[in-house]
Amino acid sequence: MRLDHVERGLENLQRDFPLQARISNEPELIQRTYTQILRFWIFRSNPPSAQHFPEAALRRLIALDAVVSSAEGLGAYPFSAKETSIRVAHGKHRPTFAMCAVDALAIPLFWKSLVRLESRCHACGVGIELDLGPCVDSPCAVDAPFVFMHFLNRQTRTEHPACSGLCTAIYFLCPDCARNLTDAVYTLQEAQCIGQMFFAFQTTLLQAFPERPENGS
Ligand SMILES: [Zn+2]
Repeated sequence: MRLDHVERGLENLQRDFPLQARISNEPELIQRTYTQILRFWIFRSNPPSAQHFPEAALRRLIALDAVVSSAEGLGAYPFSAKETSIRVAHGKHRPTFAMCAVDALAIPLFWKSLVRLESRCHACGVGIELDLGPCVDSPCAVDAPFVFMHFLNRQTRTEHPACSGLCTAIYFLCPDCARNLTDAVYTLQEAQCIGQMFFAFQTTLLQAFPERPENGS
């Protein structure tokens, strides 16, 4: 694993989408509501609906682009309420969708299980299927896909929510299509490492705001 490449990739991602910094600056009610939405996703694997959460807190989370509201329900990175080209499943719940390739690779950490991931090479369309565990250090197969991350200019960063801007530029490539690319391409292990570090603050929040009995629904 190229540690300096991983470090730069993480820095670029946090610069383009400072999700952790945005959440950590918010008051407790906002952080707690955010954690409840994440917990819903992790344990139910389907989109929660807005009515379960305090309205003002939800509005703030949407304004921060931490939560994405759509007709399908509330998405929360890494989980997408809308269908995307990346499907993830783990036997216990119905399959769901990830916001982008790096997000998909972080999901085994939350589900604490082997995850079946299905997508397509962004360039040639060949199907990509892999089983992914929460551990980054498992060796990659020779036919493992790569992850391409194209970072954005400042204007694109501020004009779009991440799910319709940044996320569309983070995708899987088959080994053939990734062959001659270097700088913006990450091995599966490198990209999973970036994803897990990017979302690590969410596991900290889940511990800081444990589920309360009255919020058991
Ligand atoms: Zn390809």
